Amino acid sequence: MKKEFGFIRFDNIDEFEIWLNKEKVTRKINRLQVHHMDLPNYNTWKTTDKRIYGENRELGRTKSLDDYCKNKWNYPDGKNHYIAQHFNIFPNGKITTGRSLNSKPIGITGWNDNAICVEIYGDFDNKKDNMTDKQRKSVIAVYGLLCRKFKLTPNVNTIRPHCWFSASGTYLGDYFPNKSAKSCPGTNFMNFGNTSSAFINKFYPLIKEYLSKNKNRTLSSSKNIKMVKNISNEDLNLRSSPDWNGKIVDILKPGDSLTYVSGPLSAKGGSTKMYKCKNNIYITASSKYTNIITF
Ligand SMILES: [Zn+2]
Repeated sequence: MKKEFGFIRFDNIDEFEIWLNKEKVTRKINRLQVHHMDLPNYNTWKTTDKRIYGENRELGRTKSLDDYCKNKWNYPDGKNHYIAQHFNIFPNGKITTGRSLNSKPIGITGWNDNAICVEIYGDFDNKKDNMTDKQRKSVIAVYGLLCRKFKLTPNVNTIRPHCWFSASGTYLGDYFPNKSAKSCPGTNFMNFGNTSSAFINKFYPLIKEYLSKNKNRTLSSSKNIKMVKNISNEDLNLRSSPDWNGKIVDILKPGDSLTYVSGPLSAKGGSTKMYKCKNNIYITASSKYTNIITF
């Protein structure tokens, strides 16, 4: 998790879930919009955004969109932000906040009241960007968690893509290349596309599956969640046991964090202790490399 320019970056879905569960939303929400950014696309992500923002691409791009929307619409959210959407989901699966959830988005003409607008970074038209697994997982989880928070059942009344509307805001109920405002979120969105049959047969079931799999997660009821954060400039090894010679199962990138379970614990093969994290993963507890953040 990182905060900058008044926006928050969630480095994993746990962080997003904890934050969302604590958000006080006074506006009625019963509509979730689906968009792709179109531009910026994956090429922008790998070239321009990488060059300009370096390791801070998600928050850098979010700020740039905020500036762009301020110029274009000058429609403030009451919290000094102007960005059209509430959330952005990036190719690496990270998520940033946008405008306040208590402020109406500028997403779909005719369907912004009571709506949350989610923009997915990329161009998912046919033969353009192919959504990464990480982004796909975050997309499903974000819609799942929004459904849970606002007590919505995924269906054609609650979750709609931009392209089911005309430019003037008429609800078409499906994508029609000649009538729809845009092809957004892309004719090959998540490899199944933007049509009503794609959403009914593929997208809603994926969200429902997420909801049923995560029904008993205790994360939402915890008051304070602790995370182990990599405060160094290096990738840190994640091991399968509290053993310095134990199997390395993954790495934790600088600035990223994992859900804390216990520790510091003694570890085999060295004097430095380790933290135990969610999913039975162990990481160094050296204060040079990690610290505990609570939120
Ligand atoms: Zn759109």
